[in-house]
Amino acid sequence: MQGVGFRPYVYRLARELGLGGWVLNDARGVMAEVEGGAGSVARFLERVGREAPPLAVLERIRADELPPIGAGSFQILPSPHGEAADAPVTPDSAPCPDCLRELFDPADRRFRYPFINCTNCGPRFTIVRGVPYDRLLTTMAAFAMCPACQAEYDDPDDRRFHAQPNACPACGPRVALLGAGGVPVDRHQPPDHLFGNGSRDVVAAAADALCDGAILAVKGVGGYHLACRADDEAAVARLRARKCREDKPFALMAADLERASELVLLGSDEQELLASPERPIVLAPRRPTAAVARAVAPRSTELGVMLPYSPLHHLLLAGAGRPLVMTSGNVSDEPIAYRDEDALSRLGQIADLFVVHDRPIETRTDDSVVRSVAGARAFLRRSRGYVPGAIGLPGAGAPRPLLACGAELKSTFCVAKGARAWVSHHIGDLHNYETLRSFADGVEHFQRLFAVAPEIVAHDLHPEYLSTKYALERDGVQLVGVQHHHAHLAACLAEHGLGGPAIGAIFDGTGYGADGTVWGGELLHGDLDSFTRVGSLQAVRLPGGERAIKQPWRMAGAWLLAAGDRGSEDTPPLPAALLNRVDPAAWRQVIGLARSGLASPVTSSVGRLFDAVAALCGICPEVNYEGQAAVELEAACDPHERRRYPVALTSAGGSLLLDPREMIGAIAADVAAGVAAGAVASRFHHAVVHATVDACATLASRHATELVVLSGGVFANRRLLTGSIAGLRAAGLRVLTPRRLPAGDGGISYGQAAIAAARTSS
Ligand code: ZN
Ligand code: ZN
Ligand code: FE
Repeated sequence: MQGVGFRPYVYRLARELGLGGWVLNDARGVMAEVEGGAGSVARFLERVGREAPPLAVLERIRADELPPIGAGSFQILPSPHGEAADAPVTPDSAPCPDCLRELFDPADRRFRYPFINCTNCGPRFTIVRGVPYDRLLTTMAAFAMCPACQAEYDDPDDRRFHAQPNACPACGPRVALLGAGGVPVDRHQPPDHLFGNGSRDVVAAAADALCDGAILAVKGVGGYHLACRADDEAAVARLRARKCREDKPFALMAADLERASELVLLGSDEQELLASPERPIVLAPRRPTAAVARAVAPRSTELGVMLPYSPLHHLLLAGAGRPLVMTSGNVSDEPIAYRDEDALSRLGQIADLFVVHDRPIETRTDDSVVRSVAGARAFLRRSRGYVPGAIGLPGAGAPRPLLACGAELKSTFCVAKGARAWVSHHIGDLHNYETLRSFADGVEHFQRLFAVAPEIVAHDLHPEYLSTKYALERDGVQLVGVQHHHAHLAACLAEHGLGGPAIGAIFDGTGYGADGTVWGGELLHGDLDSFTRVGSLQAVRLPGGERAIKQPWRMAGAWLLAAGDRGSEDTPPLPAALLNRVDPAAWRQVIGLARSGLASPVTSSVGRLFDAVAALCGICPEVNYEGQAAVELEAACDPHERRRYPVALTSAGGSLLLDPREMIGAIAADVAAGVAAGAVASRFHHAVVHATVDACATLASRHATELVVLSGGVFANRRLLTGSIAGLRAAGLRVLTPRRLPAGDGGISYGQAAIAAARTSS
């Protein structure tokens, strides 16, 4: 691939070993010919993969013998005309150890320079405007290199040979501190209450302001963050109020692993994830002693922590000397701001000061969010640091260039050709014009970057998704409609290089079912081509449709009604835990909707079952972010509780039914009898795990397979996932969970691509 220093690395290695020949990039990857003594050639082959530069991803190395031609010196050759590399752009990478050393070395010419980078690190995807990956086609185009930088750039022996974003204080981007109105804060005459020492640099002044309790908007790699002290209750509360974000946890940034481990419990997996060049936000159990304001993550047992991933972050964290809140630069659910004017206007009411710079961000790219579950990486969001890394397609791959448009919430899209697929950055919820525009722009950008002119376009079956409408508007392409939960199943199979068949337990909030109802608790038997629904959760009404998603108490009503004596005209009484929190008249109205079915579609969603149980326990009768009720219900679990509720598993017409109605009755009785919410939450989680394992084991034997896929957004629940994996393994089954993509809808586009590729190959 380009931009990771592979060719100069091969060049240096060949010269070190006294070999002649050449190296170049072509459409298949890197090609080299080396000529010399047998021992030297053997050593070259031995070392070429092992010592590859840090950002290079080696899929395989193939070597053939050629007759000697008397090659003289070793050369780097230009790419053959018209052949672009298949992986022309790599993900953004945190500063490498060499750059960090220089950043903090007073003798270095880049001492404290916030844009230091080299071939082994720095911005990539977020600054690329087009291909080939070349400075003029990045947002660095406006900066002409000074002679010192140019000399590094031209020298194959230098760490900055062909480092496209190469820059220094003399020639590169600059950082500035602006007041809320966008007016520069004169660093030589700073307001006393903000800066004590006017002689220090802009970043130091910003760090001082943070220490004094200010809220700063900080331009990062893929967009703006809002930052403040993590331990300052007043500052965090102010940020929450101004951002209109009620409960959703804020991410934190700590200077290094040691500081991070003062906040959260870190196993070796979490440490590895935190320190990786991708620098995701890692969710880990919070330490009781963590010096973190309560308002950072109310009612959460975990904190999201990341390490600095740009030189600017390193300087800021070193200056502040304490962990910072680093949350997305937006109001409420809007996309994060990444263009300067937009940030100044949208974040003007939130931030006291702005840390800006003049290197534009081309593509808005949110922080990635991961967790380590049962020894494996689980993505909650895959974006900055991982995008646009390629993910393979199994078998023959895509027979023709392909685009998959994804779902609606947490959406991504995916382009593919041959054996490779490229899943986009996190676009967000495709509800409005702005996200739709960034979706459409993103598709165009990826089509250009990866030279994919789609002939096949895959889409969800939901007719109202903007992504579906976008697909249907493309002319002259072959359309492939893919059922939502089948896409979840296929995504997991395909990323593991498998084609199935497998049993899939696919649990999520909402997906358009093949029968037109709202699915979300599905047991599927299928492969990349097709599937059968071999079981599901008992369906209930979604009283008031979309409104039931924001108001879990409505689902409590629907489930209580379903659990009661059928045919009875009595309205279930408002549960004790909801007294004074839900209007009794509204309750009666919602029960009426659920009974009549008016404006209340039928759903088998497991996500909505979690909502109902949370509300019955008095947790989250209303939510203000997606998945909140399930998150808080899991957080409430009493770890010492071992009992579980009954879930009936019945077989009818060759299909399994998971029936939790008896459990709902038991939960209502327990809560009424004063059983603690933590115990109820635990018994519920044990019940769902038990039912999932039982159902999958039954179906696996019925369909003679040992392969089980667990996916869908509900599996973001750590208890549910670890419990189900353990139970299924104990039953002798092979369990697959998503590792390279989220279990939630961020993985849908890739699943659609895998299915469309399978269906159109033959
Ligand atoms: Zn570097
Ligand atoms: Zn320079
Ligand atoms: Fe889904």
